[in-house]
Amino acid sequence: MTTPTSQATTPTVHIVCPHCQTTNRVAKADLGKATDCGQCHQSLFRGKSVALTEATFDKHLQRNQIPVLVDFWAPWCGPCLQMAPAYEQAAQQLEPQVRVAKVNTEEAQNLGARYNIRSIPTLALFLNGQEIARQPGAMGAADIVRWTQAQLAQQR
Ligand SMILES: [Zn+2]
Repeated sequence: MTTPTSQATTPTVHIVCPHCQTTNRVAKADLGKATDCGQCHQSLFRGKSVALTEATFDKHLQRNQIPVLVDFWAPWCGPCLQMAPAYEQAAQQLEPQVRVAKVNTEEAQNLGARYNIRSIPTLALFLNGQEIARQPGAMGAADIVRWTQAQLAQQR
């Protein structure tokens, strides 16, 4: 592997594009700025959650070098729908430190089964593809942000 020295001195982080699923390498210092995907030129962060499917879920979990927060939900679940606006508010606050995603367990039944999701909504936080915490039940935006940051603080 040949790595230019200029890149070796610039900490970078891999971010999976929510639009075309291309893995982008972004300078950590640029994370807070509006950064576009090198492939599809759409914004890597939109201040809203990313709907993941069985086809895209693993790539986002494995390739993102930032934590991934997942809301396991379903359209028939009243508390899930009630929490949805709060979750979007939380996404605005957590990005770009955290990729905020959601999984419709009615469509992605294999994912619900794989992670043994017994009640919805359930929030699960992943780091480097590993689940580090989960929290069943609906929460407000401030509590979602607080819970996520508290879990991540324990990882340091
Ligand atoms: Zn893209």
